[in-house]
Order: sequence, then structure tokens, then C-alpha cells
Amino acid sequence: MPYEDHEWLKDFIRDIPDFPKKGVVFKDITPLLADKKAFTYTIDAIAFHFDRDEIDRVLGIEARGFMIAAPLSYRFTAGLIPVRKRGKLPWDVEVQEYELEYGTDQLEVHRDAIKEGDRILIVDDVLATGGTALATAKLTERCGGKVAGIATIMELMFLGGREKLKGYEVFSLISF
Ligand code: AMP
Repeated sequence: MPYEDHEWLKDFIRDIPDFPKKGVVFKDITPLLADKKAFTYTIDAIAFHFDRDEIDRVLGIEARGFMIAAPLSYRFTAGLIPVRKRGKLPWDVEVQEYELEYGTDQLEVHRDAIKEGDRILIVDDVLATGGTALATAKLTERCGGKVAGIATIMELMFLGGREKLKGYEVFSLISF
């Protein structure tokens, strides 16, 4: 199998303590993006896991998700859909509220971006508590799409995002 041991990618993830706030260890993917071997491997390994004939569009979550979703959609010859924070998309939007540690936030997608029955691969850089991915899955389904999978570079196991996403195919290359 050409893509099975992804552990070496950890060398390209930089830990930034106390960013963006105290107590959070931010997983910085910019060293991975900047390395041609690590970045192409990341895209190819995610693409290898999914069947390109079962994906109509790749959906990227603002903002780092865009950087993974764009090359993946090209790789699958699939369409690309941005999901953005509130107020950033210019056309008619479907809105999904979700819980943050303190308060709530909203994600938006253009109403006409997802067609009835579209098989959507949801993509982001990090799966943490799973709240963002779950909100995006709900948004996808409310627009008539089917979630073909949720793919991230890494998953923070101690935050239990995978449990929140039970029933969906969740794929990540590395875990911490
Ligand atoms: P969650 O909704 O808790 O799964 O958080 C996922 C979203 O927050 C993703 O868009 C990630 O980019 C971002 N995120 C959460 N925790 C981290 C972290 N420790 N390092 C980098 N990004 C994170």
C-alpha cells in the first residue's frame, strides 16, 4: 500500500502553545504546506482513501480547510465549495449555528452551492471537538447533500470529536 504510514507528517506540524489563547496548543500546518513532499503526500493520501467516483464536490471549511479542499477537489475532478464564517459569502446563504466553548458561532454556505443528492466530502485541517465538522455536516444535509466523508489532516483524540460525528465516515491521517 503506497499510503499507510503517515506518522512522519508529524515532523511538519508545529505546536504553538497558548495560541490563540492561553491553554490552547495550536497545531500549525504551515510547515507541512511549505514542504513539497509533505503537502503532496497529504493530498494524495486523503485522495487515496476515498473513491473519487463517489464524490461530487469537496467542501472546505474556512480558512485552512480551503487549502486542503482545493487541491483535493482538483485531484477528484470534483467541484469545490467554501463554507465560511458569518457574513463573508455574498449570495443567498444557508446558516448553521454551533456551540463554542463560550457562546455560539455561525457557518454559512451558498444556497445554490449544493445540489439535491450531491455527495460531499467535508475537509478541514484539524478535527478537535468536532463541533465545526458537525455543523458543516448539518448544513450540507439541510441543503440536500449527502456527507460522503469528513477528512482532516489530524485529529485531537482527547477532545472526542469522532464520537460527536458517529454515523459519518471520519478520516484523518495522524492523531495526537
Ligand atoms: P472543533 O470544532 O473543536 O473540532 O474545531 C475545529 C476547528 O478549529 C478547525 O477549523 C480547526 O482549524 C480549528 N482548531 C481547533 N483546535 C485547533 C488546534 N489545536 N490547532 C489548530 N486549529 C484548531
